[in-house]
Amino acid sequence: MSFILRSILLITLCSFSVAAQIGRRVAITIDDLPVVSTRNDLENRREITRKLLEHIKKARIPAIGFVNENKLYAGDQRAEPQVDLLRMWLDAALELGNHTYSHRSLNRIDINDFQADVLKGEAITRELLLKRGKKIRYFRHPFLQTGRSLEVKAQFSAFLEKNGYTIAPITFDNADYIFSRAYDIAFDRGDKKLMKEVGEAYVPYMESKLDYWERQSKSLFGREMSQTLLIHANFINSDYLDDLAKMFKRRGYRFVSLETALKDEAYRLPDTYIGPAGISWLHRWAREKGREYVLPDEPKVPDFVLKLSGFESE
Ligand SMILES: [Zn+2]
Repeated sequence: MSFILRSILLITLCSFSVAAQIGRRVAITIDDLPVVSTRNDLENRREITRKLLEHIKKARIPAIGFVNENKLYAGDQRAEPQVDLLRMWLDAALELGNHTYSHRSLNRIDINDFQADVLKGEAITRELLLKRGKKIRYFRHPFLQTGRSLEVKAQFSAFLEKNGYTIAPITFDNADYIFSRAYDIAFDRGDKKLMKEVGEAYVPYMESKLDYWERQSKSLFGREMSQTLLIHANFINSDYLDDLAKMFKRRGYRFVSLETALKDEAYRLPDTYIGPAGISWLHRWAREKGREYVLPDEPKVPDFVLKLSGFESE
């Protein structure tokens, strides 16, 4: 091959890979608001919220937070200082969605009880949004467990539609909650060295996981779809969301709202998964085509983090 031809080929290939990277998009969705941590005191919740929002503002992430309103009560009484934590999200011009009142699983309780828990879980969020001329629009299933039969799924889907909700699916699944539990435990032990070890394993783990979901998308659709990341309003993200955002930037990602991400036509595909696990929608669609479409090399949480967290498995 001539030098000129080779050069042209190289330039063309480079511009293709740059184009692929420029097109990368991710919506960041944050569950279990206001905060999920083993330390439940108000001071800690305030600190975690403040730091999370600092990172979100700095990286200009149009994030959405999914709320469990049972955390906004002290006994039967509405606890205004807890509600203030949600106001901090709204003051940062972020969207809030419904994650049920008490974070129970649709796979484990009666659908009517579950639906009651959804309605109970919107009261305060709806009120706060209304004061700002906004509506509650998105619903996220606790544990990503979406029902054990097509009948339950259809009934719940009709319920959501009647109440003005769109399901918030996720593609970039991960185990940030295991890292955060380990991080909480290291903190409680006063072991800063261990905290650092857990923290420094976190973003590389997330990057290997992201690489996996990018490849899973390509193998399914021949392209990289707009990803939806699920993380939690937890301790480790309050310290490392900044680094996580930098990792996305380095890989050519643009942060988009959930609304924008969901415009990707991949999300129009049906979800007919009725298995027990809370799995990524990418895996749901892959199974639909046949199990052989699920890429086998999904990265795992490092052993030392899993052991420290006390979780038996991912
Ligand atoms: Zn949750």
